[in-house]
Amino acid sequence: MNSQDEAPTATDPSTNATQVVEQVTIERVESNSSMVEATITYRIPANVTQLVFRIETAAVTVEDTHQFNQRGRQTYEWTGNGTIGNVTVRYPAGEGFYLDDRHLGAVDWTDEWALVLRPETRTRWAFEGSNPGLRYAFNATDGIAGEEFAYLGPHQVLTGADGQVRLVLPDSAQPITRPASIMSAVTYASRLELRDEERPSTLFVVPTTGAMWSPDGLAVGADARLSATMEASGRGNPWVHEYVHTQQRRRATTPATRWLDEGTAQYYGALVGLQRGNTDPDAFRQLLASGSRYSSVVLDDPQTWQRTTANYRKGALVVAELDIRIRNATGGNATFADVMRRWSASETFGSEDFTSAVEAVAGPEVRAQAVQYTETNATPPLRSPESYEALLGESLPERPGTNQSDSEPPGVSAGATETPTRTTAQASTARQTKSQSKRATNGDGPGFGPGVALLSVLLVAVGFRFIPTK
Ligand SMILES: [Zn+2]
Repeated sequence: MNSQDEAPTATDPSTNATQVVEQVTIERVESNSSMVEATITYRIPANVTQLVFRIETAAVTVEDTHQFNQRGRQTYEWTGNGTIGNVTVRYPAGEGFYLDDRHLGAVDWTDEWALVLRPETRTRWAFEGSNPGLRYAFNATDGIAGEEFAYLGPHQVLTGADGQVRLVLPDSAQPITRPASIMSAVTYASRLELRDEERPSTLFVVPTTGAMWSPDGLAVGADARLSATMEASGRGNPWVHEYVHTQQRRRATTPATRWLDEGTAQYYGALVGLQRGNTDPDAFRQLLASGSRYSSVVLDDPQTWQRTTANYRKGALVVAELDIRIRNATGGNATFADVMRRWSASETFGSEDFTSAVEAVAGPEVRAQAVQYTETNATPPLRSPESYEALLGESLPERPGTNQSDSEPPGVSAGATETPTRTTAQASTARQTKSQSKRATNGDGPGFGPGVALLSVLLVAVGFRFIPTK
């Protein structure tokens, strides 16, 4: 099953006239393997009166434009003619994408293959009537695209039984863990339902010959890339860890809840092992025990854990304890996954939102515990391995008609180009008043280009993509 069929917002961009669609098609430049070429095509509905976008990716060179005029550095404005226009750019295949923090995000390439990121864009549009919204699509020529990453080169794709996860297996990468094992662990994680709506995810196994990756696992949007040398066994399964990141709504967290990003990824990476019998209860307890030593750390104050891994370790210990308390308080009817789903449904998820979500799921007493373990330096008590096994270790029921075994991999398909799609969160309500227009135009935060000033509009909406997370 291909994720395109399952994506809730998937529609054919060539026929959908109601949404703005930004479609990127990416390929290698034949004459220069260090470069990729991306064509950014906009399909623009009739009620859109103006549209400007800026390419946030550094150092692109423009090859061609059609129905777009340059309005500043890497900023382009639609001419207003027709319903389609595009800008074609080239940029280095091996470019890191964190300009201010170059040790993160080494996206790499050789003559045979490249792992590249979709160009980062910021889009504003003016419209009449109702906001058409913006949808993104991504294609790779001679490769495969997820939402944010594309692998250009020969590969195979393993699709999970429920269609929620794809594993991209480049011919150039030999994962030391069997792909079927990776897939069955991640598919199991997808059944924990950590998100309020299904979000198909693409995991890229990346070669370690001829490439350096830092860090070894990196999630961007619904995609993650992991080094082929990462093992799927042991206490914290890194494949599950990165998969969990792809399901988080990371941009909703505030500094006070940022620890949830790593704490929950770490916890579920271990929990899946425990529930599937790959991690014994002693090892599970050991993983949590490493979080007990941060007695001065207050999770909702990042200053207290900067430059440590307390957000991972104490974070996992706290999530485990809250998961147990939630299960106990609800007679097993709810788990911490219910809190995860509330997070994923929130535009903003600060500490008050977090503890309120715990209360909504499990009542005021468990909320008080959540407050204690996140707003003070209190550390949950460690339990015995047997207790963890008894309280958390029960595996999810088998899905009827679905083979959960590692030994029979789901189908591998040859590397066809596919186009997962998604819809971004948008400015919500269209009120066509002048004061709204002024506020919206002025209030978009730093870094937006001069094109914005040209909009003499009713209302402006903004689309902005991607937050990388280790
Ligand atoms: Zn992580």
